[in-house]
Amino acid sequence: MSDLDTHPSPRLCGGRDGVSAQPVRDLLSPREANLGAGTVVRRLLPNLGRRMVGAWCFVDHYGPDDIADAPGMQAPPHPHIGLQTVSWLHAGEMLHRDSIGSVRTIRPRELGLMTAGRAIAHSEQSPVPHPRLLHGAQLWVALPDAHRNTAPAFDHHADLPHVTGPGLTATVILGELDGARSPGTTYSPLVGADLTLAEGAELRLPVQPDFEYAVLTMSGEIEADGVRLAPGSMLYLGCGRTELPLRAMSDSSLLLLGGEPFEEKIVMWWNFVGRTGDDIAQARDAWMTGDRFGEVRGYDGPPMPAPELPGLPLKSRGRAR
Ligand code: MN
Repeated sequence: MSDLDTHPSPRLCGGRDGVSAQPVRDLLSPREANLGAGTVVRRLLPNLGRRMVGAWCFVDHYGPDDIADAPGMQAPPHPHIGLQTVSWLHAGEMLHRDSIGSVRTIRPRELGLMTAGRAIAHSEQSPVPHPRLLHGAQLWVALPDAHRNTAPAFDHHADLPHVTGPGLTATVILGELDGARSPGTTYSPLVGADLTLAEGAELRLPVQPDFEYAVLTMSGEIEADGVRLAPGSMLYLGCGRTELPLRAMSDSSLLLLGGEPFEEKIVMWWNFVGRTGDDIAQARDAWMTGDRFGEVRGYDGPPMPAPELPGLPLKSRGRAR
């Protein structure tokens, strides 16, 4: 998926400034974003006052939407640099095509992991025909400087490891949870997990004190560290925890996102993660002139044009450490 905002503003993210070394409970309100073709998503990251959680730098939650008589998700070919994208579904299907030749249909609780590295372009669309319901999340992970120019890649993992407990089934999307490790390639210490809780389940999930965490409720009603979360709500939890108390008021599911605080400062604009305004401007220029990103074959329609660069120069603050 893509940031389809026609006037996106540049964002400086990363660094230690916003990281809470102690456990906190900061509720983040979603902002609605219209992706076109009738699709409205709820954007949780970047958020006012909260840009990243570990290396996770972008979180959209969408659905469940009835798309029986609609095109569903339609993101024409668009470019990415400096990040990985995670397509995660609870219902529906997503057809992914990219400029390194991948064509793959992603189904619920399968990992579609695209590493943009130095440059990739992709399209994502609800296939024809498609299931009635569409429900999922689009997540981005910022690549650390040492790996941000890595070769582009796309990996599909249909069989992810699980962690189970009384009333709990967790699917490990990326990284490791309670000894179970996802096969997805990561470039910084982080975790993403999909937790399904049965009504009445009450547990303390083991987590790492050096990671910061957030949870996003996908469905049902959950209490995380005593805070009641309705679907689509995200709670930032800070660092310094060894366990996270969870209580399910109904059959429910949530995403756990965490990681070592991302100390490098990054510049995010549109679908790009760079370190300087020049990185961003050069990537935009390359996309608009047909350089660097290659071609997404098989997509029926024109690629997505880049928005205008904002008038202000994009200043980098450089590395934080
Ligand atoms: Mn995308």
